Amino acid sequence: MSISKCARVKWFLAALAFVFAVVFGLAGSARAQDNAASKDNIEVLQVRPNVYMIAGAGANIAVQTGDDGVVLVDAGSAMYSDRVVEEIKKVSKQPIRFIIDTNADPDHVGGNEAVSKAGTPIGNGGGGFATTAGGAAIIAHDEVLDRMSVAVNGKPLYPTNALPSATFSHSVKSIYLNGEAIQVLYQPAAHSDGDSMVFFRRSDVLATGDVFNMDSFPVIEVDKGGSIQGELDALNRIVDMAVTQLPLVWEQGGTMIIPGHGRLSNQPDAFEYRDMITIIRDIVKDDISKGQTLDQIKASNPTIEYRQRYGSDTGPWTTDMFVEAVYRSLTNQQSKAQPAPAPTPASKTAKKATSTKKVDQK
Ligand SMILES: [Zn+2]
Repeated sequence: MSISKCARVKWFLAALAFVFAVVFGLAGSARAQDNAASKDNIEVLQVRPNVYMIAGAGANIAVQTGDDGVVLVDAGSAMYSDRVVEEIKKVSKQPIRFIIDTNADPDHVGGNEAVSKAGTPIGNGGGGFATTAGGAAIIAHDEVLDRMSVAVNGKPLYPTNALPSATFSHSVKSIYLNGEAIQVLYQPAAHSDGDSMVFFRRSDVLATGDVFNMDSFPVIEVDKGGSIQGELDALNRIVDMAVTQLPLVWEQGGTMIIPGHGRLSNQPDAFEYRDMITIIRDIVKDDISKGQTLDQIKASNPTIEYRQRYGSDTGPWTTDMFVEAVYRSLTNQQSKAQPAPAPTPASKTAKKATSTKKVDQK
C-alpha cells in the first residue's frame, strides 16, 4: 500500500470512529435520559371527584382539593418534592394549605419543607395554625414532632421549616375544609408511637399511613413505640370505619382506603389484612406459650400462608424482622405482672390524655 493510500485509509478509519462515537454517544445520552425518566414512577390516581392519590414519591400521598385550597396527607420523600408539587398543580389551581403527617418516617415527612414552602397558609397564620416559614401548615401528633426534633451528631435531623407547626396530643384533631370534615385520628403504639389516619368524611376516603401497607407485612417499629396490639387496634378501626358496597355488591362504591404504601384499597382488603395479622399474632403467641425461642419461631415459618404475597427475604423490612417485631412486642406484654385489659378507646388514649408536654391546638 502506498503512503497516500495508507493516509486515506487512516483518515477513513478516523472518520468512521468519529461517526460511531457521535452515534453511540447520542444513543448513550438518550439512554441515560430514559433511565432518569424511568426512575420517576410517580402516578396520580383520582379516587373521588376531589380526592387524588399520588403514588411513587415515597409513601402514598392523599390530595384533597377544593375552593379552600389543597390538603395533603403526607408529603413523600424529599427527593420527589418538586415533582409532587408539579402534580398537585395539575389537579388544583388553589394553594396547598395543610400537610398532615401520618408518621415521622422520611418517606412521609421528607417532603415537608419543600411542599409546605410551595403552599400558603389560610388567613394570617392559618387561623390558629402556626406556620413555619409562611408555607402550608403541617399537622401531626406530638410524637412526630418529638421524633423529628432530635439531633444527629450535633446537627438537627430536620430543618425548622420541616417540623410540624400544628401538633395535637389527644386522640382526634379535626379541621373543616373544602366543604368536608377532615379528622386526624391518632393510633397509639401501632407502626410507631406517632401514627395517625386521616378520614375525609364526605368523600368517604381514609388515608391510613403505615398501619396498613399493601406492599408488605406491617412495619412495626418496636424501638419507636410500635406494637402488634396497637397495629391490630388500628386495623380493627379501619375495618370498623370503612363500609363496603353491601347489599348492592355489583355497584361501584364503598369507602376508599389509601394505604401508606401499595395500591388503592377498600374495606374487604383491610378485612383480609387484619385477619392475616391476627392469625400470625395468634400463631406467634401460641409458640411463645409453648416456650419456643425467637429462632425456633422464625424457623417454624408462622407467616407461611402469606409470605409469598407480603413477605421478603431482602430489603429494609424482611419477614424475619416482622416476626421478630411481633415476638418482641408480645413478650414485652407478657413480661408485665398483670395481663393488660382488653383495649378500649378510653384506655388507648389514656397515655396521651395525661400528656401535657405541648400546647394542644385542637
Ligand atoms: Zn411508610
